[in-house]
Amino acid sequence: MFEIIPVRAFSDNYIWTLIKDDEVTVVDPGDSGPVKEFLKDKALNLKNILITHHHFDHTGGIEDLSRNFNCTVYGPKGDHINGIDKTLVEGDRFEISNVTFNVLATPGHTLDHLSFFTNNSQPLLFSGDTLFFGGCGRLFEGTPEQMFQSLSKLSMLSKETQVFCGHEYTESNLNFAAEVEPLNQELNNQLNEVRNLRKEDQITLPSSIAMELSVNPFMRCEENDVIMAAQEYSKREVSQPDEVLEVIRNWKDNF
Ligand code: ZN
Ligand code: FE
Repeated sequence: MFEIIPVRAFSDNYIWTLIKDDEVTVVDPGDSGPVKEFLKDKALNLKNILITHHHFDHTGGIEDLSRNFNCTVYGPKGDHINGIDKTLVEGDRFEISNVTFNVLATPGHTLDHLSFFTNNSQPLLFSGDTLFFGGCGRLFEGTPEQMFQSLSKLSMLSKETQVFCGHEYTESNLNFAAEVEPLNQELNNQLNEVRNLRKEDQITLPSSIAMELSVNPFMRCEENDVIMAAQEYSKREVSQPDEVLEVIRNWKDNF
């Protein structure tokens, strides 16, 4: 089992640190400073870095960490990110501390976006800026169709999978979700809990696939209430799930 600890960076990024048998892995170190501080506090060395996509708030610390530690950097294929040692594509697998990590291509937010899934005794998903608690990443590079396919892929993972995403966006995501589905009781309960946590500046993560399936409108594009809300907002007939996603993504961008 990994011990998983969030390290905060910038205003709302989380750099997830995984610790097992003195081996430390970090996911998306946008800033090296807080990671170095964390490692110093724990008297640990960094062994691996996992990168989900090319945005600076997820990659900015690679160079400095690689200079300071003898670590391996795993990340998307292409020469667009400096410092990647092992390039990955859909279907690849690699081992860290005897745990197999599966690579899922999840384009939409960016075209290079990967998510990492482990399914040993402890199913874990590191979803970067694709799947957030209650939301999904903005479509900077990909199409609504690509994001829909990516989220569908994630929706098929086992329900108890814990979901570790890249940002603390939960409260604003659930505020929006409640606008889309005001009658979703589980969503309203979750929103209350999340508001209480955020009042104390506490983390709301991880989430789970089961939770996302019941509260996240972007994971619910085939649910009648979400389809109806998308139609009402766009004032037209919306039938395909990727069109539903397009409408609510647009709605969220203007919310
Ligand atoms: Zn991003
Ligand atoms: Fe980000």
